[in-house]
Amino acid sequence: MIQRPTRPQRRGPLGSEEQARAMQRLYTSEVMAIEDVAPGVRRIALARPPDLTWQPGQAMAVETPNEGVRLCRFSIALAPEVPGPIELFVDVRGAGPCSRYMGQLERGQVLRFWAPVGSFVFEGAPAAPLAFVACGLGVAALRPMMQRLFRHRLLYPVRLHHFVDSPEQQLFRKEFVREVFSRENFDYEVLFDIPVTHYLYGRYVGGTSERNWNFYLCGPAPAVSQATELLRDAGYAPHALHAEEW
Ligand SMILES: Cc1cc2nc3c(=O)[nH]c(=O)nc-3n(C[C@H](O)[C@H](O)[C@H](O)COP(=O)(O)OP(=O)(O)OC[C@H]3O[C@@H](n4cnc5c(N)ncnc54)[C@H](O)[C@@H]3O)c2cc1C
Repeated sequence: MIQRPTRPQRRGPLGSEEQARAMQRLYTSEVMAIEDVAPGVRRIALARPPDLTWQPGQAMAVETPNEGVRLCRFSIALAPEVPGPIELFVDVRGAGPCSRYMGQLERGQVLRFWAPVGSFVFEGAPAAPLAFVACGLGVAALRPMMQRLFRHRLLYPVRLHHFVDSPEQQLFRKEFVREVFSRENFDYEVLFDIPVTHYLYGRYVGGTSERNWNFYLCGPAPAVSQATELLRDAGYAPHALHAEEW
């Protein structure tokens, strides 16, 4: 059952960009399905409120009753133009309040969440090569960007580098492999056992004098911030670097 957003609308408390904040509303939505998709990772499907809008890359802030009202941010892992329920991919292994709350959810439960949240947004295909750098579950925020990109022919090279701890953590592998075989200009690789900065140094810094790539990076903070710093220090323009640190 889809529930309509709560009215009257209140302005949301999260989001670093004025425009994103102005769009934020409080919604309620039923949990339609819960599925274990990788060790410790759960796909949570939510009924889509009909007037919810968001941009690829944005998140929602789920209210949890754990310690008062606490807001937990999760990327909306679906481009808005793709039909179906809203999908979240959540690491439920942690002992923190967000992991615990999401790990205890059951089908039929109603969530309250603010959306859309954040200014990490896909700005469209640049007239330049584009690399997506996903650290672990950060791929959940990058997937909608690629869904949007794949609606068109790729005029410039696009790469997805997905850094994971183990082979089981390769979310969306089938989808990405299908795109590799069905279109030109898309490369996909899954990387184990190599620090993100070591790999990016070899591929985009020391190994080449070109600085024409654009980047979208997402995932846990230390890896993403170090990678962004490496690329910036190597001479990539600030406007070519888009990063979301969790
Ligand atoms: C924009 C954005 C998008 C995100 N998208 C996703 C996503 O798609 N999927 C995903 O899995 N994650 C995502 N995250 C990360 C997610 O929001 C949480 O940070 C993550 O779930 C861990 O939060 P936590 O509160 O459970 O744990 P922690 O961050 O480890 O803990 C938070 C606080 O709780 C305290 N704490 C920890 N353990 C306990 C305990 N046992 N008892 C009491 N207090 C404790 C800590 O000291 C800390 O102060 C995203 C984050 C951001 C910013």
